[in-house]
Order: sequence, then structure tokens, then C-alpha cells
Amino acid sequence: MLQQLPTPLMFKQRGDSSYCLNTAFLSLFGISPDSKKGSEPTDFRFYDPLTKNELTGENCPYQALEKGDVANTWVRLQTPYRSLHCFINGSIVIDGDDEWLVFHIDANNRVTANNGNDSASAQRHIEFNQLLTKFSSKLINANAQDLDVIIAQSLAAFGEFCDVDRCYLFEFSDDFALMSNTHEWVAAGVSPYIDELQNMPTKEMPYLMGYIERGLFKVDDVRRIPDSAIAEREEFQKENICSILCSRVMADGKTHGFIGCDITGSPYTWSASDMEYLKRIGDMLGNTLQNIYNRKAIQTMQQELIEANRQLQKLANIDGLTGIANRRLFNTTLEQDLAQSCRKQGSLSLLLIDVDFFKLYNDQYGHVAGDNVLQRVAEKLVQSCLGTDDLVARYGGEEFAVILPSTNIEQAQEIANRIVENVRCLGIEHKASPHNGVLMVSIGVATQSDNCDESCVELIDRADKALYRAKSTGRGRACA
Ligand code: GH3
Ligand code: MG
Ligand code: MG
Repeated sequence: MLQQLPTPLMFKQRGDSSYCLNTAFLSLFGISPDSKKGSEPTDFRFYDPLTKNELTGENCPYQALEKGDVANTWVRLQTPYRSLHCFINGSIVIDGDDEWLVFHIDANNRVTANNGNDSASAQRHIEFNQLLTKFSSKLINANAQDLDVIIAQSLAAFGEFCDVDRCYLFEFSDDFALMSNTHEWVAAGVSPYIDELQNMPTKEMPYLMGYIERGLFKVDDVRRIPDSAIAEREEFQKENICSILCSRVMADGKTHGFIGCDITGSPYTWSASDMEYLKRIGDMLGNTLQNIYNRKAIQTMQQELIEANRQLQKLANIDGLTGIANRRLFNTTLEQDLAQSCRKQGSLSLLLIDVDFFKLYNDQYGHVAGDNVLQRVAEKLVQSCLGTDDLVARYGGEEFAVILPSTNIEQAQEIANRIVENVRCLGIEHKASPHNGVLMVSIGVATQSDNCDESCVELIDRADKALYRAKSTGRGRACA
């Protein structure tokens, strides 16, 4: 009687160990009616779909039913052939003296979708779209570090939805030479393979690669893979894969990898909706990766622009010949330092430094040698100014300026004298110079103490006048 019922049933007599399966069950699980397999308890395993733990002992639905407990639950039912996510509904049927423990099996997912029932398949599409919406909204705002978790969740959701045994993402190396399984979801009772599928040479998988490049790899029955691709067939069989479906994932305008799923146990004919769903999940992941690439590219571009601007800013403020501050930076710094000095009611000194008889130097030694002298003098000025806020600048031609914040007139005079001496000690030969044939500088010193009314121009003017006095009183000296 039970054998004839159109709903899939799995049943056994109380006290018996072996199972009976009706025709509807055999067809649902792809079990051939004359198969010898599939009656021993070890051939059938029940897994908790959430914890993925096998339900054994008193957790086994048959034992629960035997004890008289309610045994209605979602399980993943593993058979020697197909394994399915199903709702099992237990009942006890009395037939004369015999007592049968019967499970009615309701395998929702793939079966309903493939039944050709319009309203059921419309419902599946709606459910799938809801799933996709849920994950795509998570992915829209995902940053690189959240991505792994969301990809794993997407694969699990898709795997469960389509009731496959394994669902995974492979990514190619930049040169396409290698592929690695980066994310994998497996159904309860199915062995994971991710660890063994790292850095696999793509050239050893030409059959698969050929299809991936065209977008889709669909094998209903792995045994039918042609002998020309025997290595791939054996690899799939080694992993106990009977059916395989993979869809290319594009990102950044090129093939990034592929998303795939497997059926173990017995072959399965992939439906149009399986293909469509997988492709859409793959597209969603591809768009996300693309999004992250774009964001990364924009961030890199921003960093480069910031760095380029920093360099430009530096160049705009640096004198090309000597590498010290130029007139532009001198002007802005003097403006700021003077204002700050006024606020703090401190003192600020300014030195204007001019190389003596430099025209004669150029005339005698040439312009290139002259440039070299300017570089050496600049370097000596920097070495001579020890304050952290001091600024040494090229003021123009063979003239330099030094801003000395928090420096009074006596200190400034002392620094200026030190500079005159330090430059003399460089011992740069200048035969035409009346300073014993050695190159020297003259310095004008001006200090602003309490007179906050004085502008930068006025301060510079005072320093210039002091410089003139240094020049007119014999050069090679500093005057205030
Ligand atoms: P003084 O002692 O009165 O300052 O005499 P001086 O010859 O140094 O002054 P003058 O203003 O007559 O000449 C300055 C010279 O500095 C003329 C110019 O060719 C030279 N000079 C200005 N800028 C540069 C430069 O970048 N490189 C070289 N080599 N020479 C420069
Ligand atoms: Mg000059
Ligand atoms: Mg000069």
C-alpha cells in the first residue's frame, strides 16, 4: 500500500533495521529501482541542516518516532545517491499486526522548481530575488574586509536555496596561470575540498577553462566528460562530484574567477533556473569586486594626487639651485612669524646676507663655479642657524635671508658674526677679492621687538639699510 502512494516515503517495520523506499522516493533521490544500495541504515544519514551534525542515537528521527516523539523536522537526508534538504514528517501506520514507522519526505527546493509548475516556480523566482536583494544590499556598502564574510554567506544561502552539495568561488591569479578556491560552502555531511584546491595550474584544466571563458560550465553527468579531458573528469570524480555547474565572474573588465556548485552522489540535470540563479549570484559578486576595485583605484589616485601636490608644494617653495627655501616661502614665513612674534610680544630678527664681490668671482671663475659657491654658502648658512624655527632662504641672486624668531638684537648680531666667520672658514678662493683672496659675505641685521606697527617690507628695508652699511664700511662683516 505504502509503495503505491505518490508522495516520497521512507519506512520500516518497528524493530527492523533496513529501510523500505517507495517509488516516489527512489525517483526523488535518483535511485534506480533495481539498485542494491539503499536499504541499510548506514546508507541513509540524517543531518541537522543548521549545525551540520549527523543526527544519531536518540537524535535520529527514526528513534524519536519509535519512542513516540513527534518527528517532524527539517533535515539534510544523505542517501547513496542524491542528498537533499527536506522536511520529514513521521507517523506510525498500523497494518494488521504490523506496525510501520513512516517518514513522508518533502524535498522543497529543486524539486518544486523543476516540476514545471508555473505558480511554484514563480514563487521560487520571488524567493530567489529576495535572497539576491538581501545580499546585494549587504554587498553594496561592503568594504574589502567585510567581503569574505558576505561572500561566504551568499554562497551558503545560494547552496541551501538550490539544494546543492557544495558551492564555491574560485579566483584566478593576475596572469591566469593559477586558480584557487577562495570560498567554499558545503552542505551537511559533504566533505570540504577548499584546502586541496589552492594554486592549481589552470593549464591542467583546459576543458573547464574553455567553458569558463565562454561564461558557463555545465555538466549534468561527470561520467560523460569526454576522454580528451580525462584528467579533469578524474579530478571531479575524486571529489565525488557527479554534476557540476560553474559561471564566470567578471570584474574590472576581465575574468576574475568563477562561482560553481556541485552535486555529489548521483547525477542531476541542471535546470534553466539553476543556471540563471548561479549566473546572477556570480554577477552580483563580480559587481561587488568591481566596486571594490573602483574604490581602491580612486583611493590610490587620491593618494597619488596628494603626494603629487605635496611634491609640487615643496617645489613651489624650494629654490632650485640651493635646495633651501625660496623667496616665496620667505615672504609667507616672515609674514606669519612676524604676526606671531607681535602676538607673543617677543622679538624677531632678520638677516640679509650678500656675497661680496660676487660679480668678480663669476668673472674670474665662471658662472658654474659661481653656482657651486652659492650652494656651499647656502649649506653653511643652514648649518650656522641652529634654532628649530629659523628659516634660511635664497632671497635672490647672490643674496640670502635668515628669519630668526624669538631672537633679540644681541643674539642676532652674534649669529650674524658667526655666519661671517663660518663662510670665511669655508676658505673659498676668490683671488680678486680684497679679503685676503677668500670669499666672504656681508650681513645686515634688523630686529623687531616692541614695534608691532612695522610691516615686513619695513623690516626688510631696515635690514637692507644695515647691509648697505656693512658693504660701505668694508664688507666681510655684519651690521645692525
Ligand atoms: P658686492 O660686494 O657689492 O655685493 O658686489 P657684487 O659683485 O657681489 O654685487 P653685484 O650686485 O655687482 O653682482 C652680483 C653678481 O651676482 C652678479 C650676478 O651675475 C651674480 N649672480 C646672481 N645670481 C647668480 C647665480 O644664480 N649664479 C651665479 N653664478 N651668479 C649669480
Ligand atoms: Mg647683491
Ligand atoms: Mg654681492
